[in-house]
Amino acid sequence: MFPRSALSAEASGRLDLTHHKLYMKGLIRRLEVSSNNRNHPTADIGILGGTGLYQIEGIEDIEECSLETPFGRPSDAYFIGYLEGKKVAFLSRHGRGHRLLPSDINFRANIFGFKMLGVERVMSVNSCGSLKEEIQPRDIVISDQFFDRTRRPNTFFGGGLAAHISFAQPVCPELAENLYAAGKELGLRVHRGGTYLCIEGPAFSTKAESRVYRLWGCDVIGMTSATEAKLCREAEICYATMNLVTDYDVWHEEEESVSVELILENLRLNIEHAKAMIKKTVAALPASRGERCACSRALENCIVTQEALIPPEVKKKLHLLIAKYIKG
Ligand SMILES: [Zn+2]
Repeated sequence: MFPRSALSAEASGRLDLTHHKLYMKGLIRRLEVSSNNRNHPTADIGILGGTGLYQIEGIEDIEECSLETPFGRPSDAYFIGYLEGKKVAFLSRHGRGHRLLPSDINFRANIFGFKMLGVERVMSVNSCGSLKEEIQPRDIVISDQFFDRTRRPNTFFGGGLAAHISFAQPVCPELAENLYAAGKELGLRVHRGGTYLCIEGPAFSTKAESRVYRLWGCDVIGMTSATEAKLCREAEICYATMNLVTDYDVWHEEEESVSVELILENLRLNIEHAKAMIKKTVAALPASRGERCACSRALENCIVTQEALIPPEVKKKLHLLIAKYIKG
């Protein structure tokens, strides 16, 4: 067993070099934006890159936008530009150079930042381990359920405002279908649906835990996706994820003999597959969200606090999320 978080220092180093060259040529504009400044670039589609995925080649007219959100600073600057003719914003979940543990990621700032940019759909790339024999390394699972075992902040609400979103169907069905179709068209081994077990980490599971998770019927295990899905739903942003399988977690007795080289090769190939899927999905996505998707109304009837009792500072902080449901 080898950690799927085998940090791709080489890949992130390459990114820094590439961007340094582009800055020198004046091809990337850097922007600093605070939460009350609306004068910043916008995007329609968000891309959240995970382990090994710190950039997407082919994004044109890039602007690097550093945001200050009411929840603090996101993991890194957003890279905003055109991919396949659509306006996208890319964010590296762990930051360039992979500086952040899952527990250290400011998930709320990351998702609020997408909201500030006007992003309506986020596609996410999450490396994971497989909990089932038939889900093999290098497969891609478009998960449709989560089992959340984390202890981190996972809501924008509180502080005097109570709201409860529906989360029975935690993934946007339309966006997930688009991802699945793109994977199939590319000839990849892609699974439609599956349960992603989200653990706090940073340590991987014990064998005993891994065996129990298998008994629970979970399909893949990782440390990030469930938190992002919850926050996107609260922000009324569509969310779907590509779970890239690098290994069989620790339950698989035969996998102990697998070499580090092979798993690094799995990681490298997975990232190539994810990039191809992202491009194909972005190209195929319709201009606006369709009828099967209720994500844009996710907060309707969910705010339970009497409006007059919501503290003004909370109203101000969450204006972007709740304004359409609150009068004052
Ligand atoms: Zn949706």
